[in-house]
Amino acid sequence: MKFVGAHVSISGGLENAPKNAAAIGAKAFALFTKNQRQWEAKPYEKAQIEAFKNECDRLGFSADHILPHDSYLINLGAPEDESLARSRAAFIDEMKRCEELGLKALNLHPGSHKNMISQEECIARIADSLNIALDQTTRVTAVIENTAGQGGNLGFCFEQIAAIIDRVEDKTRVGVCLDTCHLFASGYDLREQAAYKKTMNEFDRVVGFNYLRGMHLNDAKAPLDSKLDRHESIGKGEIGLEAFRLIMNDPRMDNMPLILETIDDTIWAAEIKLLYSLI
Ligand SMILES: [Zn+2]
Ligand SMILES: [Zn+2]
Repeated sequence: MKFVGAHVSISGGLENAPKNAAAIGAKAFALFTKNQRQWEAKPYEKAQIEAFKNECDRLGFSADHILPHDSYLINLGAPEDESLARSRAAFIDEMKRCEELGLKALNLHPGSHKNMISQEECIARIADSLNIALDQTTRVTAVIENTAGQGGNLGFCFEQIAAIIDRVEDKTRVGVCLDTCHLFASGYDLREQAAYKKTMNEFDRVVGFNYLRGMHLNDAKAPLDSKLDRHESIGKGEIGLEAFRLIMNDPRMDNMPLILETIDDTIWAAEIKLLYSLI
């Protein structure tokens, strides 16, 4: 069974995320655990946690289908020691917030070397960051998202993701989220069956489907291998509808959050309907 949703707003309170998701007919959702533009946030109050959990229960969202996303400020592979320390503290805080909310995973962008350190050094820093965070928490899985390869952001090829996982000590609490726009931008084609099969086989060979915890479903404004992270509405971009039909009919993506981050949130309900109609 497929669980499609979108990255919904927490504006006005965390408990609005499940409400916003239900309003668009979502069966899954993503959210930020706090204002993602700020480093610091007040700890949750008990009432906030209760309200979030109650709304999830009432509206039928299970923790298996909720994939929180970390703040864009965090760089777990930061070349500067001060920024690395700040990022690690913020990431651990978010992992703990997920635990408090009863959630099982936190989606992260691996990190950027900013052309100041080598890829290898950056990958080592990212893996160390994850080891530190996993050590200070007990239940939440760190879910590495593939990137478009824009700037110095690592995670744009399966080998880099595998290299990070390889250095993570607790393999039971590390996973992967594949973003279709980022795959396409970094040169992995999905547009028809043969290309889709080749990309997914390569993912399985290099990383392994046992690590897949979710997907971000986004069409792409920019062409294949553009290295540009530009999302587009489903079926309206360079990837096209066929790739999403293949995903919606691929049992390897069953029972995990499949999250829209497409540019026009006023058509999310229609996009979710469209995706289910492809099955
Ligand atoms: Zn992301
Ligand atoms: Zn993106």
